[in-house]
Amino acid sequence: MQVPIIDLKAQYMSIKNEIDRAVENVLRSGSFILGEEVKRAEEEIAKYSNVKYAVGVNSGTDALFLALKSLGVKEGDEVITTAFSFFATAEVISLLGAKPIFVDIRPDTYNIDFMQIKNNITKNTKAIIPVHLYGQPADMDEINEIARGYNIKVIEDAAQAIGAEYKGKKIGSLGDIACLSFFPTKNLGCYGDGGMVLTNDEQIAFKVRELRAHGSSKKYIHNEIGINSRLDELQAAILMVKFKYIEAWNERRRKNAKIYNNILKNVVIPFEAEFVKHIYHQYTVRTQNRGKLQKHLKDNGILTAIHYPIPIHKQEVYLKMGYNLSLPESEKAADEVLSLPNYPEMTDEAIGYVALNINNFKG
Ligand SMILES: *Cc1c(COP(=O)(O)O)cnc(C)c1O
Repeated sequence: MQVPIIDLKAQYMSIKNEIDRAVENVLRSGSFILGEEVKRAEEEIAKYSNVKYAVGVNSGTDALFLALKSLGVKEGDEVITTAFSFFATAEVISLLGAKPIFVDIRPDTYNIDFMQIKNNITKNTKAIIPVHLYGQPADMDEINEIARGYNIKVIEDAAQAIGAEYKGKKIGSLGDIACLSFFPTKNLGCYGDGGMVLTNDEQIAFKVRELRAHGSSKKYIHNEIGINSRLDELQAAILMVKFKYIEAWNERRRKNAKIYNNILKNVVIPFEAEFVKHIYHQYTVRTQNRGKLQKHLKDNGILTAIHYPIPIHKQEVYLKMGYNLSLPESEKAADEVLSLPNYPEMTDEAIGYVALNINNFKG
């Protein structure tokens, strides 16, 4: 049996008629940038996420960049974030000339350890970016409380977590701003790059709207220096087809996780924190025998992935910038985590096959 890590072709085949029709409608409309489809996607995703405003942008990375920029983050400022995430979370901080302050993670959820945030706050701290890693919400109440005490803004990096819940509330409305990614392999992905900024703050929404369109709110009137970062009509139309299935797809990911949990032996299965609904964007186990296990699975036709092999503070570029930190939990996780295939189209049989091959592995 061959088991890929994700199967976007199977997903397309399951919704082909609707997707093809949506794409054709856009092509026939002759409207490709900031038209009705983007407006509809913004309205629907804002409603779903319980926020007043949503602004479609070109990627999750741009969503984070524009969120920080809308808060005025600049050179000399500091932004606290986790060392264990996709590189973009920290990259955007540096791109604005500000300094990422890396905090270690909780070893059980892999999310930022809120206990270590306070002693990293200085007079230059402007924001905290918790990441809902693998689709599991970070400890938002504790993080918000710390931030409020110091008048610091909180930006949720929700690139892996649309649909996840924290204490009964959808992620996306839990901080001051939230950022979504619609990269094709995300749990809600389009067929290219795409992203969105969510907020209840009218001024932030207005600012992001300007910044994504050359700092302009009216054609040829420029109020500030922005960039070109718009979600396009084709991607928005594709997104709106897929959005109808997000709840069902997330539930299927959760069901797959349950099946894995019940069968797997000899590896540490994911921990789902109290009060949260984890949507298992990734089903990630840990083992001290990762290299050999990954090869054993590959030899049996099963593809896996490592999210992420190098914590951000150990990336070459940050070492060159003089970062010399020891964040033991992030470093240990980077050596031990392994994401198994988990996607909505996956059959129970395929999950059983993966689990059996893990249980049979004699490291
Ligand atoms: C994917 C991802 C991003 C970046 O999103 P893009 O749409 O690829 O730019 C940022 N943060 C996290 C945690 C991600 O997983």
